[in-house]
Amino acid sequence: MAGRRLAGRVVLATHNAGKLREMQALLAPYGLDIVSAGDLGLSEPAETGTMFSENAGIKAHAAAAATGLPAIADDSGLCVAALDGAPGLFTADWCGVPRDYAAGMNRLRHELERRGHAPSGAAAWFVSSVVVAWPEGEDRVFEGRVHGALAFPPRGDNGFGFDPCFAPENGDRTFGEMAADEKKAISHRARALGAMIAALLA
Ligand code: IMP
Repeated sequence: MAGRRLAGRVVLATHNAGKLREMQALLAPYGLDIVSAGDLGLSEPAETGTMFSENAGIKAHAAAAATGLPAIADDSGLCVAALDGAPGLFTADWCGVPRDYAAGMNRLRHELERRGHAPSGAAAWFVSSVVVAWPEGEDRVFEGRVHGALAFPPRGDNGFGFDPCFAPENGDRTFGEMAADEKKAISHRARALGAMIAALLA
């Protein structure tokens, strides 16, 4: 709802340690009292949506309803042009259960090779959809993207997920090779949360 702001205690509706770390760092200057869905022992809802924003909404609404607090959720993924946007919404699924990011990156390379594309240099972009949901029912949606190219073999141990195989545009270094502060300045998640901060916190 226009005019509503965020203050006080809020839930970060994620169980992903990498996302949590990045979201906490991005929100640190704004004086919120942040708890995570994991800290509160909330269960993870099934992500049955067909768009990033739908899945982020499912996670944010579930956490807001369970806690009575405003909730912030991110749904994100890596989209590859030569794979018609895959894995996209299914990025986490490509890593299996329990999550094996190396296996997910391998699958990406294989899918590109199978279709006759060179994996290294393939155009790709990360998307983050951030939904803020209030327990009374309103919500706000924000999106961020970063374009770049895939890198194989993956490089760097920083970050999480597919960071070692993604080099954002205007450079050769992967997110996996960047310090947390460098990724924080340009990432899809930083852009989505930056829009959220401008609208609800600044
Ligand atoms: P979901 O939003 O829980 O469906 O999971 C998104 C998946 O996309 C994560 O598990 C990661 O594999 C990948 N992903 C999303 N954001 C990033 C990022 O910033 N770096 C690397 N991988 C990411």
